[in-house]
Amino acid sequence: MKEFKKSSKLSNVRYEVRGPIVSLADKMIASGESVLKLNIGNPAAFDLYAPDEIIKDMLFNVQQCQGYSDSKGLFPARKAIMQHYQLRGVPNICLDDIYTGNGVSELIMLAMQALLDNGDEVLVPAPDYPLWTAAVNLSGGNAVHYLCDEQANWAPDIADMRRKVTSNTKAIVVINPNNPTGTVYPREVLLDIIQVARENKLMIFCDEIYEQLLMDGVEHCSMASLAPDIFVVTLNGLSKSHRAAGFRAGWMVFSGKKDMAHDYMEGVEMLASMRLCANVPAQSIIQTALGGYQSLNELMQPGGRIYEQRNYIYERLNSIDGISVGKPNGAFYIFPKLDVKKFNITDDFQFALDFLRQQKVLIVQGTGFNWVNHDHFRIVYLPRIEDLAKAMDRLEVFLSKYQQKITFSAPVEEKAAEITAE
Ligand code: PLP
Repeated sequence: MKEFKKSSKLSNVRYEVRGPIVSLADKMIASGESVLKLNIGNPAAFDLYAPDEIIKDMLFNVQQCQGYSDSKGLFPARKAIMQHYQLRGVPNICLDDIYTGNGVSELIMLAMQALLDNGDEVLVPAPDYPLWTAAVNLSGGNAVHYLCDEQANWAPDIADMRRKVTSNTKAIVVINPNNPTGTVYPREVLLDIIQVARENKLMIFCDEIYEQLLMDGVEHCSMASLAPDIFVVTLNGLSKSHRAAGFRAGWMVFSGKKDMAHDYMEGVEMLASMRLCANVPAQSIIQTALGGYQSLNELMQPGGRIYEQRNYIYERLNSIDGISVGKPNGAFYIFPKLDVKKFNITDDFQFALDFLRQQKVLIVQGTGFNWVNHDHFRIVYLPRIEDLAKAMDRLEVFLSKYQQKITFSAPVEEKAAEITAE
């Protein structure tokens, strides 16, 4: 019998944040088990809902949103995005340089497809939000990972980044604030990265989807505002800041030295036209969302849910023997380190699987974010403190007797078939 196989382009693409362990957790839930899910950055799944005002606006606008929009996006949405970046000091943007998309995800794929030929290299952080690596590889390029340094509060290691530039390198990806580490990069670090781009004539993609998720008075600086002489693509959206991940509202902005990138921008325009346009009702709320009072700020300050949950998870993790972690002050992720010798851990996938099977808590292993060692995992601390407390109690019990034994030998992509609930 003829078998339909997936494209070979997918052979070096991994996306474990929605991979086999998550499928197992879903099966466990479907069979009636209660699993604590600390794996997904989806605020509405944890009763953190979009502001009423944008819901009302969408309902009000929806009647007028039945047709396609311009493939770049609705005029008021793009105008509001332009003004947002003007206020943040980003130079040389105009309406024509702004594209709305079905979430940042769609635009990451589109931006990489428009750029890459086989063998081109893009510098991507390790750890990263893995869609970046997947999008580069799926577009025929090679994601080359530059290390972020835990000892330097997970700032990119500039020397490592420099070492990894080759004649095939086209761009540097920066995720700030960062997923999975929760770090907000200081201005000096951004300037150092810009210098690497400047010296090597590279473009910069800056994923700033957590731009507004800041704690402890830390400031976020839009990378593009520091780099008027570099071609910068900034990506952002409403999924996290406005707790509206399901609406799929994102955007991408070109700025800086655009005369180096006419051909690339033409490519983006062609691909954007081919997907016709982004979800129009979702675009219709961008103007309201970006203006006026930002209810998110209440969640990020003392007494606010995200702030208090951050403090709780940070303290509980550090009180567990064999775990250490710095305090993140952006986004809603924490990326703790495991004492691998103590627990005999050689495979973090197995660690996440064992924790799920034994304690019914779902986390994502560090290598799922292209981290280089099997010694970290990511927690999304959006659940309420009662649930975080249960998860931490279970982690404590689990680690009090954990000694890893590898129960399978297949490579990652084949592990799915071996995994069953116990
Ligand atoms: N970029 C980063 C760094 C993310 O963490 C995420 C989602 O978790 C995305 C992009 C995707 O966002 P969107 O919902 O806009 O597609």
